[in-house]
Amino acid sequence: MSDKDFYEILGIERSATPEEIKKAYRKLAIKYHPDKNPGDQEAEEKFKQISAAFEVLKDEEKRQKYDQFGHEAFQGGGGFSRGVDPFDLFKDVFGGGGGGGGGFGSIFDDFFGGTSGSSGNEGSRGSDLRVSVSITLEQAAQGVEKEIKYHHHGECNTCDGSGASPGSGKIMCSTCGGIGQVASNQGFISIRRTCPTCSGSGVMIENPCQKCSGEGRIRKQGKVKVKVPPGVSHGNRLCSRGRGDAGARGGPSGDLYVDVTIEDHPLFERDDDDLFHDVQIPFALAVLGGTIEVPTLTGKVSLKIPAGTQSNKTFRLKNHGMPNLRYSSRKGELYVKISIQVPTKLSKEQKESLIEFAKTCGEKNFSDDGGFLDKAKKFFDNE
Ligand SMILES: [Zn+2]
Ligand SMILES: [Zn+2]
Repeated sequence: MSDKDFYEILGIERSATPEEIKKAYRKLAIKYHPDKNPGDQEAEEKFKQISAAFEVLKDEEKRQKYDQFGHEAFQGGGGFSRGVDPFDLFKDVFGGGGGGGGGFGSIFDDFFGGTSGSSGNEGSRGSDLRVSVSITLEQAAQGVEKEIKYHHHGECNTCDGSGASPGSGKIMCSTCGGIGQVASNQGFISIRRTCPTCSGSGVMIENPCQKCSGEGRIRKQGKVKVKVPPGVSHGNRLCSRGRGDAGARGGPSGDLYVDVTIEDHPLFERDDDDLFHDVQIPFALAVLGGTIEVPTLTGKVSLKIPAGTQSNKTFRLKNHGMPNLRYSSRKGELYVKISIQVPTKLSKEQKESLIEFAKTCGEKNFSDDGGFLDKAKKFFDNE
């Protein structure tokens, strides 16, 4: 039961940032809090699991241990949350806002939706963005640096992202009087929620920057150089940290994700690190043997064709495939599949010598002098 993966319990990625972890916890803890689900055993159990998961993942050191060793790292008879009271944890996270009343005042923030980035203070984190970059197979093999242009919310140069016009400072928020919360009465209960003016920070900008209207960011074109590593595959995603949207009012920037698209190649098919190429060789060459030149991603190489090579024979050219993305010293293979050209136009002399040749092989069924096709026709007519 409690052996369920902590990340799974919180419904987050292994790469989740501390903010994402906290956000996931807040959402779930409110949903499954026993006070909200009186008498619901399952909710209580969930609440405990969520608390245990968060207790470990919120702590950098514990999280690292958990990533490395899993639940083993916190062995203690099934329960990992030794000494952790889920309710204390809950108060730790939700309490503290503007003083008084422990957790529940600010829990209502989340119920009655203060602002979206209710993590409280100052600016909110910018959004992650996604762009795609298209490269050739050759570039995928060698690695390439690509400059990508994209539109995003970038930091406002006039106010350096602060949202305040140059020279002006911050003053106490007039809506909430610096508390960061406002109260409204509904019947007997007083509900406090995050102040909509200052997003809970208790301060506001005295004089908003004119250029960005106090947002601290403006829409602009961004440019980023992305290093695409050798061996990259179609659909791989690269991440450029902090190159997404700038945060509002000085908040941290989001990340930029770059999806790699690889263009079809006129000669090569790819499967993982291996490449495939079809080559046609003349009939006589297949019979007699010889050497041909085949293309690779880095130039031509010669390939020996043994006498008597059959159609569909595949030759393997070691290490002429794609480099491995993880192990740069490893390379895939190039598979060259042979098909044999059957000549369609023969001169009179060529035809004669081929007939001569066929006769010496004991073949009689060619269509030159009442050959195969005519015989077949007669055969079927008699039926
Ligand atoms: Zn500005
Ligand atoms: Zn305020």
